[in-house]
Amino acid sequence: DVASFLTEVDIEGGWKQGQPVPYAALTHTFSLIEATTKRLEKTAILTSFFLLVIQRSAPADRKSLLQAVYLCINRLCPDYMGLELGIGESLIIKAISESTGRNPSMVKADLKKEGDLGLVAMNSKGSQRTLGTNKALTLPFVFDKLKEIASSTGHSSQNKKVALINRLLSSCQAKEFCEAKYIVRSLEGKLRIGNAEKSVLVALAHAVVLSEKEKAGKHWNKEKVAKKLEEGSEIVKSAFSELPSYDEIVPALLEVGVSGLREKCKLRPGIPLKPMLAKPTKAIGEVLDRFEGKRFTSEYKYDGERAQVHKTDDGVFSVFSRNSEDMSKKYPDLVEQLPRCLKPNTTSFVLDAEAVAVDPTSGKMLPFQELTRRKRKDVKLEDIQIKVCLQAFDLLYLNGEPLLRKTLLERRQLLREHFTEVALEFQFAKASDGETTEEIQTFLEESVKDGCEGLMVKMLETDASYYEPSRRSVNWLKLKKDYLAGVGDSLDLVVVGAYYGKGKRTNVYGAFLLACYDADSEEYQTICKIGTGFSDEMLASHYATLKPLELEVARADIKAGGAKPDIWLEPKILWEVLAADLSLSPIYTAAQGLIEERGISLRFPRFIRIRDDKSVEDATGPEQIAEMYERQTLAQSKPGKSKGKG
Ligand code: ATP
Repeated sequence: DVASFLTEVDIEGGWKQGQPVPYAALTHTFSLIEATTKRLEKTAILTSFFLLVIQRSAPADRKSLLQAVYLCINRLCPDYMGLELGIGESLIIKAISESTGRNPSMVKADLKKEGDLGLVAMNSKGSQRTLGTNKALTLPFVFDKLKEIASSTGHSSQNKKVALINRLLSSCQAKEFCEAKYIVRSLEGKLRIGNAEKSVLVALAHAVVLSEKEKAGKHWNKEKVAKKLEEGSEIVKSAFSELPSYDEIVPALLEVGVSGLREKCKLRPGIPLKPMLAKPTKAIGEVLDRFEGKRFTSEYKYDGERAQVHKTDDGVFSVFSRNSEDMSKKYPDLVEQLPRCLKPNTTSFVLDAEAVAVDPTSGKMLPFQELTRRKRKDVKLEDIQIKVCLQAFDLLYLNGEPLLRKTLLERRQLLREHFTEVALEFQFAKASDGETTEEIQTFLEESVKDGCEGLMVKMLETDASYYEPSRRSVNWLKLKKDYLAGVGDSLDLVVVGAYYGKGKRTNVYGAFLLACYDADSEEYQTICKIGTGFSDEMLASHYATLKPLELEVARADIKAGGAKPDIWLEPKILWEVLAADLSLSPIYTAAQGLIEERGISLRFPRFIRIRDDKSVEDATGPEQIAEMYERQTLAQSKPGKSKGKG
């Protein structure tokens, strides 16, 4: 029953046909989702809400559903537009204290008690009986205000943000509506209702399927409904993986429905798709086991930054990061170099490549650290000191046609036919199609000698070699030289806490608490304390970055277990870390319940580098950690098997 779930608090009466969605309808939906741990139930609740939004919006309204979707995933626009929430705790405390007329220290004391600023804001509202005369907030109004808050920059923007938040909080209705709670959580950049983006996409698909069914007055039996819902979500997921922009998908769904979506929403230059990723392997033997009997190729794994390069038919070049951020302003030199690397028959394209720093005199590739010395924003061509060469390894779109469902062999052929190598500017990733242990070993050593991290081994033929956007696929394996002896791969972990230094390091943090990120439950799970291998300069620099992220209490989405750092930190910084091995731990919570009741911890963790090309949500997940642990146990029990000859 679609409407009944809104009757608990009196939202029904305030949501008339053709009128804007009441914000309380969304927050009530959030409360219901938060109250259950069952994934299917969460999706069903969200489906009901989206269906209501579709049914009650005016026919020409293409915005309400889109804004509702954005608020459910805590975003305001596609990633490449670069507008983000994630307002610091201290600004929100200030706004809460101003909107309630209470002293900031009282708000902080409440935060210590509750552990969640959302609850503090909510509790500062009276109960329904004392409801004020405020006009109820609407979803489009809140969306616009959040956008205004996120986009206010420059001089006195802090004060402007506090004033805007203050006004929003003051307009919230009584406690029961939970508006203040979710406004604050949206501002913080985390809803904490345990609803992953995947489920939002499924709920969107289901709602559109159901609304089409009702509009057509169709009667389907239970099996038919289940089948149609399943088909619908597959179509929406596959369209979204090619064209990951709700700005495109949602209006298209409203216009042409699920059945017309694949035709309308295809990969298009200008909109970055989420890159395909690789699974780690520890030995050449493991690669051969996985690819037995299939044709594959090994490519250099370049040590630079992923760059997805687009050119539209009207001649606009853009460079996107691994995370779909627009890096065209960071790499104006690539944009300038590219036209020289195209053959005349190339009009539009999407290239998958690695941007690698090179020494202009020797032509040698330089390590990733050199690249990090470049400025990140508004780089001027004439100021560039560190030269970058593009190492192209895949072609995803060419002259008006997506190539995702062509084999790698065909894509590689097209790449070579339509581009041309230019020294120091553009090269095809070096590849060897040799399939024996000796050939791979030789190529691996060569890659390391040339300054690469190792090899990427990829399927060449059949549908197993199609490009799989956003997937960490078994059809791409990475073989990193450094890691053959360790756990097989590095991990990307979030810094969630810090410990004060000892001796002459008492004025900085001396050690840090790291966590992995579980996208399904939206929580950070602690994994280890890291404190060795930092120079004094590094510690000073980490202190400068992390100090502003200090929190009064641990955020509610950090699953601490037995970890007790001196200071809790806002989870914003991602580090790449290497470890000797993994062990079960009674203290840490990473991957708890996946292998056994205990969590998994890292032994002898070592800091490699800051990963600012990824967001904290891209941190290594518990399943990957459990997988690494299992492979380690397997390797220990069968020493001859997975070591191979390499
Ligand atoms: P990491 O960079 O730590 O290995 P990741 O999570 O960024 O991990 P992976 O899938 O693990 O991504 O490794 C693939 C990365 O390696 C790509 O994102 C890309 O930046 C880089 N790379 C370098 N050379 C190649 C290549 N020939 N093919 C594919 N990716 C390559």
